[in-house]
Amino acid sequence: MTFDLHGRTRRLELTDQDLRSFEAVVLEATPDGIVLDRSAFYPGGGGQPPDHGVLLWQGVETRIEGVRKGDDLCLVPAEDDPIPPAGTVVRAAVADERRSALMRTHSGLHVLCGVVFRDYGALVTGGNMEPMTARMDFNLPEVPPGFKEAIEDACNAEIAADRRIDVRLLPRAEAFAIPDIIRTATNLVPEGIPEVRIVDIVGLDTQADGGTHVASTKQIGRIKVAKIESKGRGFRRLRIAIAD
Ligand SMILES: [Zn+2]
Repeated sequence: MTFDLHGRTRRLELTDQDLRSFEAVVLEATPDGIVLDRSAFYPGGGGQPPDHGVLLWQGVETRIEGVRKGDDLCLVPAEDDPIPPAGTVVRAAVADERRSALMRTHSGLHVLCGVVFRDYGALVTGGNMEPMTARMDFNLPEVPPGFKEAIEDACNAEIAADRRIDVRLLPRAEAFAIPDIIRTATNLVPEGIPEVRIVDIVGLDTQADGGTHVASTKQIGRIKVAKIESKGRGFRRLRIAIAD
């Protein structure tokens, strides 16, 4: 088992986050889903929703509206679109605007996570994102005065610093020896996978993460902290928006 294999599909986006088009062979196809031998469609996970896009084959277009994760990765076609039969070679394109926005948003959430932990010692308890908006929940009993502005300023200072965002693979034991990895993701890495994918905002935040990210923090744009909600029992929900 390798980190970039899901069922019969090699996940190309885990090692090439900028890849938007690729060729693949259909292994299986039903109206429920299309299984390819290789795919750059992010299947969803870690709060990042799946990619959209198209498959082009023999002059026909199949729109892809999501991905379902089971034993295999099933690309979900638009209702009533033609389905390429098994054995077909398809040209696939990942919808760039949506994916690129999600990469900026996902990296923005990691900046937020790193800043809130560094400055307030608060741990993340959950999160979710759509293109250019996101929320993240923290275990944060007290909200000091000026918290919202301070967080926003600190996040944008990290963006202005243009920190590199590195993706690398580490052997499992080595990855879990990093204190930050234990803090954020002990239960996100499936058993039996010998290597862990690490997303490192150099000098700010290190996480075990399968998501897609921009290459440096400046590419995020700007982070606006839109709202802070109390979720009771010391939990706070921060809603952010990404802007140019
Ligand atoms: Zn993440």
